[in-house]
Amino acid sequence: MGDPINIVLIGPPGSGKGTQAARICDRYHLPWISTGEILRAAVKAETPLGRKVHDTLSSGGLVDDALMIDLVRSRLAEPDAITGFVLDGFPRTINQALALDALLAEHPLLALLLDVPGPELERRLGARRICSTCKALYATGTRYGSEEELCSKCGGTLIRRDDDNIDVIRNRLQTYRNTADPLIAHYSARGVLTAIDGTASSEKVTKALLKAIDAGVRTKK
Ligand code: AMP
Repeated sequence: MGDPINIVLIGPPGSGKGTQAARICDRYHLPWISTGEILRAAVKAETPLGRKVHDTLSSGGLVDDALMIDLVRSRLAEPDAITGFVLDGFPRTINQALALDALLAEHPLLALLLDVPGPELERRLGARRICSTCKALYATGTRYGSEEELCSKCGGTLIRRDDDNIDVIRNRLQTYRNTADPLIAHYSARGVLTAIDGTASSEKVTKALLKAIDAGVRTKK
């Protein structure tokens, strides 16, 4: 068995991280670990974790580092993460990045950055809908409209995610900017960062990502 393919996908909300993570996972048979999804599922199931993070998620702020690090430590200890993983949404802070470095010790890590400018992100996020049944993502034509539409895959109702209204969007983008720069500097200094132009078509972005991963994997051998 080769080295595990451990990937951290960095990018602002609306950069297409979720879509790209799914494609990378498909290609390399890796588990997609989205901390946002784990937290939202916990809120929905009203677990003790869900009750703890409910207010933070609704406001668009960040859940505290200690809780997030514990969550990721136990998730990475599960058997499906032995051959690698795609982390989406973690780390968000330098403390989380340092904790992940310590967790991985000598194992390789590739940090991939999806670059998309702010105004384009606001436009994309305002138009985003998610199927309430199968969770498929859609980009609608309207910016902040509230019309109901149906999912073309399962017929479920398309809804706006609770944290996709404009005030929360701006707060989330600001939070991202405040925390991403040190993170990017950290991985850049470690020589494991590759920045990808996230404004290209989603197929082109995927191609660039797979190329960066293949190059990264070869470098480690
Ligand atoms: P996401 O789906 O990645 O945009 O995450 C949705 C929300 O979950 C964020 O706005 C945060 O409140 C919380 N969250 C997810 N991942 C993290 C993390 N690594 N650190 C702190 N909060 C997080």
